[in-house]
Amino acid sequence: MATYYVYVNWRTRGYRARVHFAHCAFCNAGAGIHPRATNRSGWWCGPFATLEKATTAAQQLARYRGVCKRCKPA
Ligand SMILES: [Zn+2]
Repeated sequence: MATYYVYVNWRTRGYRARVHFAHCAFCNAGAGIHPRATNRSGWWCGPFATLEKATTAAQQLARYRGVCKRCKPA
């Protein structure tokens, strides 16, 4: 079963959220939320069991910008 993460980016004007697969090389299973890998441009939210839940969370957290073009969650 796939696991999804939402990445919220605040670096650009307005918060933007994008959905990733946990196995996405960019996401790296939410490694961005790990204290050791503090990311100043945004934060990871998750994991989510379904794409629907991840998308809903993304829409609530920020302006939903779609799924990652690299891992293409579906
Ligand atoms: Zn991704």
